[in-house]
Amino acid sequence: MQLKRNQADTNLPYEIIVHILDLIQKTNVSEDSGFYDILSCSMLSRSWNKCAMPYITKTLTDLDLHFRSISDLRRIASILQESKQYHSAVGLQITSMTIYLDCMFEESKVMQQLNAVAKADDKPTDDKLSGDEPSDDKPSDDKSLDDKPALEQCSGENHQLFTFRQDIADVLVDIVTNAFVLNDLTLHFGGMTCQKCLLNTGSFFTRIRPINKTLRRLSLHEFGIKTTECKTTEEKQAGAYEPLADFLVDQLDLEEIRFHQFNGDDLIVHALGRCANIHTFHLNLVDHFDSHLISTDALPAWPKLRSFRISAAKVHLDSIIECFKTHCPLLEDLSLPADTHEDEELVVSLYQLLRMRSAQLVQVSIPDLAIADDTFLIFLCDNLPNIRHLSISGGKLFKGSGVKEVQWDELQYLDITGCYRMQPAFVLAVLDHCNKLTEFRLSVTTWREEVVLDRLCAAGFTRTEEWNHGAVWIRKMPVVPDLPKVVLK
Ligand SMILES: [Zn+2]
Repeated sequence: MQLKRNQADTNLPYEIIVHILDLIQKTNVSEDSGFYDILSCSMLSRSWNKCAMPYITKTLTDLDLHFRSISDLRRIASILQESKQYHSAVGLQITSMTIYLDCMFEESKVMQQLNAVAKADDKPTDDKLSGDEPSDDKPSDDKSLDDKPALEQCSGENHQLFTFRQDIADVLVDIVTNAFVLNDLTLHFGGMTCQKCLLNTGSFFTRIRPINKTLRRLSLHEFGIKTTECKTTEEKQAGAYEPLADFLVDQLDLEEIRFHQFNGDDLIVHALGRCANIHTFHLNLVDHFDSHLISTDALPAWPKLRSFRISAAKVHLDSIIECFKTHCPLLEDLSLPADTHEDEELVVSLYQLLRMRSAQLVQVSIPDLAIADDTFLIFLCDNLPNIRHLSISGGKLFKGSGVKEVQWDELQYLDITGCYRMQPAFVLAVLDHCNKLTEFRLSVTTWREEVVLDRLCAAGFTRTEEWNHGAVWIRKMPVVPDLPKVVLK
């Protein structure tokens, strides 16, 4: 769709403009093409810009650049560039963005041709992979990039078969740096395991560094390079791992960092030790995370830490918990991984930490505290006055028979699955005192007790999900009716 700036459009009433935009959105073949047309319209004038904004905001606030073709990416980049001059409102919409770094790597032409020959044997009419240079003018349904996930990924050993798409890296830099209020950035590495590939992203990470002025939240996904410290002289000379580490070191105002299936634990902590404003650190599904690194390099540098969640196998927590006591006075949200709390010293240390922070904790998840007994449970019941979410699942020694009341006035979620010895007295105390509780997870041995079952039903809970050893009981809280709304027309 071609529209010229400065045409006499301003005479159109808003209703007409909105109607046109509606038609554009409804009649376009794909969501994407409608989006680009509406973006173009928004450049026409102030009135068009105003009317188009609600349509644009929806897509732009959280811009996901998943496998878009190079021509689509260039359109976004040029619109953003233009918006800087004419309609800064467009650039201001993008506060959150997701980038896929594996898009920057492509199996080389030689491999594609070999594959094409192999395919041609099965399908003689297939002429798509004829070895032509990639064209920028292909429509957005161009398969050269969309097919990316089907291609083999560089494993490190076949690195020479992959080429780095400088053109894609360039346009991504343009997009990122023109989104001038970017607060959230998600980087997907697509399981990258090749250090040489990571090095190729060096200029990308260097050039997007200006976003540190606005960036507050960063998520890093699927990074397969485990040992990120340079081990050999050759690696050191090559500056292995530096691109990402240097980028992290520069994010001094970063407040939240989340890792999902991210294996470079030494890179994580060495780099993040410089970011003194971290208040949220979440780490999911990372095996053998070296927790001593975080205790010595990161936690002492995070005095503002409020939320720490870690789900990882075989992590030793002793030093982390000691660190919280000394260095993180604001901690209010703590989730520890299961199967790590076997040692008595650790339980004592955890008990001390919870006692020190008892009034400020709102979320605690300490599953499989298998050697903690009723002393610990009763301590929890009498403290944590502001707790909203509590999981003590797998506490095999918790009985709660002496529990008369709990001080959890704000509690909304409680998980006691796997606490097989838990007595009805505890559940009844919870049901008596926790008026805001909406989700209660219990073991089958607990909820099948007649007195428990009766009281759960009487309190308005219904069973929504059940598995071998437990069930979820949900209660809908009564909705406070709103005052009648006056519709302004
Ligand atoms: Zn590679």
